[in-house]
Amino acid sequence: MVQIKTPEQIAKMREAGLVVAAIHAATREAAVPGATTRDLDQVARKVLAEHDAKPNFLGYGGFPATICTSVNEVVVHGIPSDEVVLKDGDIISIDCGAIIDGWHGDAAFTAFVGSGHAPELLELSRVTEESMWAGIAAMKQGNRLVDVSRAIETYIRRQPKPGGGRYGIIEDYGGHGIGTEMHMDPHLLNYVDRRRGKGPKLVTGFCLAIEPMVSLGTPGTEVLSDDWTVITTDGTWSSHWEHSVALTDEGPLVLTAPDGGRAKLAEHGVTAAPDPLA
Ligand code: MG
Ligand code: MG
Repeated sequence: MVQIKTPEQIAKMREAGLVVAAIHAATREAAVPGATTRDLDQVARKVLAEHDAKPNFLGYGGFPATICTSVNEVVVHGIPSDEVVLKDGDIISIDCGAIIDGWHGDAAFTAFVGSGHAPELLELSRVTEESMWAGIAAMKQGNRLVDVSRAIETYIRRQPKPGGGRYGIIEDYGGHGIGTEMHMDPHLLNYVDRRRGKGPKLVTGFCLAIEPMVSLGTPGTEVLSDDWTVITTDGTWSSHWEHSVALTDEGPLVLTAPDGGRAKLAEHGVTAAPDPLA
């Protein structure tokens, strides 16, 4: 069952989404050489408190922190730690969430620590982010869930990889419905699996967290002995981008983007829905 939201509920989710955007801004600034991933967690905690928002990751299935900090070959679910000190040249994916009045927001981005990153790393993050936007642009009336998966996969497959070879589209994790819980039906693959059918129709009130994860090598992952940290099986570095999106009568609204997705969706010829809080 897909939870369909009213405009009032979408406005609440927009509130939560803007808190997530504020955590992104603060943690992006704090992700510098010498900082620990625990420092970033504390930054996120402070922003949540300032907005009277609750964390949704803390305690989720026993997760011990407020955000996920996934460095280099870590794909997702890295646990913030005093032991992980960011170095010049690292890449880090920071995944953040917030709850306002019971409504959830969830979004992630990849940041470059310091400077001088190889072009293939810059391109990895760009391709991952742009595939997310291609997926968001496919969130329109009349489409089905598989159209979002297809848009993400098609975008990635059309990008030449510097140095040759193929990008790995991570298969073990994907996007999800979101609303009164962080993870709800349906599960959203980042590629098309014909055995799964086309999925539900995208209608007004449908909300999805769209989150491609891409590696420089394998699509395969394994979980470390801490039961959380997900790494690529071949050790290649990976990128993760995510936004929470609502479909409205007036098009998609990117709940976790400060501008509601207006600028990036325009590049796809899509008009973002007006901000219900503006
Ligand atoms: Mg997330
Ligand atoms: Mg998510």
